[in-house]
Amino acid sequence: MRKSFLVFGSPRIEADEIAEVVDSLKSGWLSSGPKVAKFEQDFKRYAQSPHAVAVHSCTAGLFLSLVVANIKHGDEVITTPFTYAATVNVIVHRGAIPVFVDINPRTMNMDVHQVEKKITPRTKAIIPVHFAGRPCDMQALSALAKKYKLTVIQDAAHALETRYHGKPIAAWGDLTSFSFYVTKNLSTGEGGMVTTGNKRWAEMIQILASQGMTRGAWRRYSDKGYRQYRIILPGFKFNMMDLQAGLGLRQLTKIEKYLKIRERIWNQYDEGFKDLPLETPAAPEPKTRHARHLYTILLDLTALKINRDQFQQALYRLNIGTGVHFVAVHMQPYYKKAFRFKDSDYPQSAAVSNRTLSLPLSAKLSNGDVQDVITAVRTVIRRHKR
Ligand SMILES: *Cc1c(COP(=O)(O)O)cnc(C)c1O
Repeated sequence: MRKSFLVFGSPRIEADEIAEVVDSLKSGWLSSGPKVAKFEQDFKRYAQSPHAVAVHSCTAGLFLSLVVANIKHGDEVITTPFTYAATVNVIVHRGAIPVFVDINPRTMNMDVHQVEKKITPRTKAIIPVHFAGRPCDMQALSALAKKYKLTVIQDAAHALETRYHGKPIAAWGDLTSFSFYVTKNLSTGEGGMVTTGNKRWAEMIQILASQGMTRGAWRRYSDKGYRQYRIILPGFKFNMMDLQAGLGLRQLTKIEKYLKIRERIWNQYDEGFKDLPLETPAAPEPKTRHARHLYTILLDLTALKINRDQFQQALYRLNIGTGVHFVAVHMQPYYKKAFRFKDSDYPQSAAVSNRTLSLPLSAKLSNGDVQDVITAVRTVIRRHKR
């Protein structure tokens, strides 16, 4: 058995990233300053997007996207229940109504064939979630958005490196929100970025993220002299810090390399699990690039004497940390109660929720780590086979 515990989703942090943070500490620019501005510039280039605004989290980015898209009380927003709570919480915080479309169990993304029948005169926006980094069918969703004049707000928390039909994913949304949470492909601890082609929206998001202030602190306090600010909107406190941006701009230079490492691990897992009673992730669709954020296996519970949670515990006892992405939002206590959802309302999402398990997939993993995961999964199956 493996000697030390393998932490799920632990980021790879190198000396140059640490030096960047130390540099911020020494310079005194801890909060939003020159590094945030540089990270936004670099990110814009990577995402090939006209505008990028750094925020404190993807959740904050999604929320502000709904604000600038003017999603209000009583509006309907179409999304998937098979996502992290953040995607849906922000809809509720606007007083809007989440309208769920079940997933295609092969891709785990929103089933585009079920979207049109959910559109009503109150539908204002659609939030596709690119699960694990696999792009949704954006051609179909874009056509529907155009036909019904809906705003496309992408939850790209998993999809930093995702490409669809020749373009980076940011190109496919009116607004796109990325996450730099600790387990994500690029990690600043907490952090997020919103991209958009709309200059006015980008400016509004920046203003709303800093209390509704017309100028950021960097410009207020820099050596160009103090300038007075004005509050033009009742904003929020969602700005990114230089401490975070320093990590982000260094990691951005390495993400293509890290993607290749995760692709290699992915193939090792595929190979290592071939003969087991479980499903491995489907191959990426043609003309797409999968960002390889999560490697999720689907357990064949009919072949096992234990359920998914017990399986996860058994791996834990073998020193392997795993995750569950996700238990669908419609199965969560608040949503069950507030919207009277039954698990069976979205049967594909519910079925996957009960069988899915995410294995470690980080550029930090050594070959030995990957072999330990494969051995542990095989051991648990051998011990608990029906
Ligand atoms: C992580 C995640 C978020 C939230 O990102 P934060 O940066 O933690 O706010 C949103 N949606 C999905 C699908 C996620 O996995």
